[in-house]
Amino acid sequence: MMSTPHFEVTHYINGEFVGNGTTFEKLYPATNQPVATVSEGKQDEVNAAVDAATEAFKTWGKMTPKERQPILKAFAAGIRAHTAELAQIESYDVGRPIRENTHGYLDRTANNIDFFADFAVMQGTEAYPMDNGYINYVMRQPVGVAVLITPWNIPMLLETWKLGPCLAFGNTAVLKPAETTPIGAWKLAQIADEAGLPPGVFNVVQGFGPDSAGEYLTRHPDVKLISFTGETTTGQAILRTAADNMARVSFELGGKGPNVIFDDVDMERALYVSKKAAFINQGEVCLSGSRILVQRGVYNEFVERFADKVTSETVLGDPMDPNTTMGALNSQEHIQRVMGYLESGAQDGKILIGGDQPDMPEPFSNGNWLNPTIIVDADHSCKVNQEEIFGPVVTVVPFDEEDEAVHLANDTKYGLSAVVQTSDLGRAVRVSGQIDAGTVWVNDWFIRDLRVPFGGMKASGVGREGGHYSMEFYTEMKTVCLANQ
Ligand code: NAD
Repeated sequence: MMSTPHFEVTHYINGEFVGNGTTFEKLYPATNQPVATVSEGKQDEVNAAVDAATEAFKTWGKMTPKERQPILKAFAAGIRAHTAELAQIESYDVGRPIRENTHGYLDRTANNIDFFADFAVMQGTEAYPMDNGYINYVMRQPVGVAVLITPWNIPMLLETWKLGPCLAFGNTAVLKPAETTPIGAWKLAQIADEAGLPPGVFNVVQGFGPDSAGEYLTRHPDVKLISFTGETTTGQAILRTAADNMARVSFELGGKGPNVIFDDVDMERALYVSKKAAFINQGEVCLSGSRILVQRGVYNEFVERFADKVTSETVLGDPMDPNTTMGALNSQEHIQRVMGYLESGAQDGKILIGGDQPDMPEPFSNGNWLNPTIIVDADHSCKVNQEEIFGPVVTVVPFDEEDEAVHLANDTKYGLSAVVQTSDLGRAVRVSGQIDAGTVWVNDWFIRDLRVPFGGMKASGVGREGGHYSMEFYTEMKTVCLANQ
């Protein structure tokens, strides 16, 4: 095992890497040893970052998408050039195995910037000539300073998912990463700086949420846009705060995704898709297929083979080892929360595999490790089937008829995503149409074109981002009516 580095992580404000006297320790999830000392942002840093973004907006906002494009493309190229280093940093931040960072993850992280740099250049506008010769046309203009608040589970991917469209459409940004994943945002700022992003266009303030940098940013009167990804309850708190300034919001929130398996399914594929949908990133994915609903005819076969597959194919261990398939949960606080759900799962149902912490060799014995867990025989109304657990814990529930599958799939407060697995095309279309979810995958999971709308129904979100839906959020529209005389 390589020795764990130690990072001195700062804010990035107005093109400067600045710290202050107040710091906090960030722990490596695999060992719970400190991996970074992080500057803690408060009101002063928030004010400085918003001021810098406000000033930078005067120039950046007036540039054309074509002028911004090469700078953003250089940022994306920088991310690609630093793939090896970023892959390690992401594992130190999250606890995820490094193989999941190198298999497409960092490519997507860069592509979020590349895609919107190009997309913004290609957008036209509407024009409506009137009978009297007047011409109405629509202008799209950047909105102003955006606050981007991100969670800890897939930080770099979500940070660039917001930064790409935000900057490409001419806004300036203050990013507040999650307190347990500060290193990646700081590194992204270094890469952006080297790529020549003008000072103040992209700022990072490190810190916490309530009564700290996160809340202060959402309260700031000069902030015009808030793009937030995180828990539903945090979204509700931000919505209340943002109301005072009428800031525009886009929220990507929690999920409890159903993975509906019909008895006509290709079982090999269903097992493969279900395993990745449940356990990638230690199951700490908003889009997880964490509620597996299986038609009675294949229920027993599925449960038995799924348990075997998960047990035999999961390798918990050093996140930096390319053979490791599952890493550590992100924080001590979070693993305690997940373990609480295991207690109620054992009471309300049966823990088929997992449910306990593995004995890990040094230096990992104090890390946040949990064996992959499958819970069966829990009624669908139970806590483990209703609440987002956000860990390597999946429930399996049988159903008889298609209607019942749809009813169960929709029977939570969430509506972010779903998986439907069947060989029957008609059924795939029918069931996908009836499930309350922002995204439905048929016979796969997670893969998506960046042009489609992404977001959640019900308690899973407000608004959509992706392609021109991101443009809607990150631009202000203006109608000009031109008298032709
Ligand atoms: P969280 O809501 O606790 O924190 C997210 C971010 O918000 C952090 O940066 C945090 O510091 C900040 N924050 C917390 N309270 C705040 C406040 N009052 N004001 C301003 N900022 C505040 O979420 P988390 O635990 O970091 O992430 C896990 C959650 O994120 C899960 O619910 C998961 O489903 C969700 N998530 C959703 C998506 C999606 O696309 N829908 C993607 C990833 C994660």
